[in-house]
Amino acid sequence: MSAPRPYQSYVYAYPHKTAYRPLDDRPALEALWEREPKDALSLYLHIPFCEVRCGFCNLFTRIGAPDELTGRYLDALDRQATAVRDALGDAAPVRFANAAFGGGTPTFLEAAELERLCDIAEKRMGAELSAIPLSVEASPATATADRLAVLAGRGATRLSLGVQSFVDAEARAAVRPQRRADVEAALGRIRDARIPVLNIDLIYGIDGQTAASWRLSLDAALAWRPEEVYLYPLYVRPLTGLGRHADSSACAERAWDEQRLRLYRQGRDHLLAHGYEQVSMRMFRRSDAPAQGPDDYACQTDGMIGLGCGARSYTSALHYSFDYAVDMREIRTIIDDYTATEDFTRAAHGRYVDEDEARRRHLLQSLLQAEGMPLEDYRLRFGTDPYGDFAAELDTFAAHGWLADGPSGRLRLSPEGLAHSDALGPALFSPGVRAAMAAYESR
Ligand code: SF4
Repeated sequence: MSAPRPYQSYVYAYPHKTAYRPLDDRPALEALWEREPKDALSLYLHIPFCEVRCGFCNLFTRIGAPDELTGRYLDALDRQATAVRDALGDAAPVRFANAAFGGGTPTFLEAAELERLCDIAEKRMGAELSAIPLSVEASPATATADRLAVLAGRGATRLSLGVQSFVDAEARAAVRPQRRADVEAALGRIRDARIPVLNIDLIYGIDGQTAASWRLSLDAALAWRPEEVYLYPLYVRPLTGLGRHADSSACAERAWDEQRLRLYRQGRDHLLAHGYEQVSMRMFRRSDAPAQGPDDYACQTDGMIGLGCGARSYTSALHYSFDYAVDMREIRTIIDDYTATEDFTRAAHGRYVDEDEARRRHLLQSLLQAEGMPLEDYRLRFGTDPYGDFAAELDTFAAHGWLADGPSGRLRLSPEGLAHSDALGPALFSPGVRAAMAAYESR
């Protein structure tokens, strides 16, 4: 049986946003959350601004923020937070188990604006930032000492820096022009700020990247002894800067797949040899890294509150968000609409998640972790057996050598299975989600 192409899509959430649609019933948030457990929620605040648009990026973000757009955006975020907190009510205890600021680039906001962002999380939503894990994404140019001081002071426990490559020519090839000296200076400022966990993002599969240049980036990252390292395969997606120039012939695609698999294995082995544990295909954690503090949120089951126009929210029955786009003009319009919104009491865009989708989501989000899925958790939650529910898919994975052996009470991927996470994940999508994603028109 020939293995499918290894790089199909990064499954970090299921169902993917391209399977969301306008919700005709526009359900009230109050009703959506009424019977949901709310004592270990996750809070995510989305800041959709960046200084540049990286060539590979298909995230929901725009370049720059003219005419005090950041201020108007924070005003809208404040209105949304107020409406959402009201909708959660006080009949049952509401508590956030963790928080994250993502984007975009949250540190695109200036220091005073970051204070305001933290105030929205704390005063409007009631998240106790100094007592729970708080993760923030940053870019080298915006990781300035004053912004980092605000974040450290407000309780950030993790700072994730998008470096991508320490080789200037590779950074340019990925359409993220930056100089290594500036990246190193930013890393120095982050360490000076004493945020407990530093994560460095690196990308492999860049045009011109070799085993030697990849090794250089890995070693440059390791020199900072980051508590976490994420190794991302480069993707070229429609409507991104790189997507417009890609060579999509079958031969070029195959060679690129092979390059990425080679660099993945090299990166994984290098990190494992330097005291890191593999958490998932992309994530590696230093074995002696400090624990991040209490985090009793379980992403397979618990609810998420997303604020901001690119953020999703999850109840057990509905995943919802605002409209989604990749094209710059469309994104600008959606952000402008968001900043003009007064009524945040209803969900406008999303996808209902039935029992079958909940099973798929549980399996996906557990199986793609190196530690795998405790079989008992699945059986207890759904009253069925994953080997029965997903017999065909799991047989196929086993035939590819993607499942690990061993009577551990867990369903786990083999090293090759982890390497093929981006093929294996999409194979678990339901026919309905697959059809909705295929029908989505990129814009
Ligand atoms: S990759 Fe990150 S920094 Fe680059 S454009 Fe996308 S969100 Fe912004």
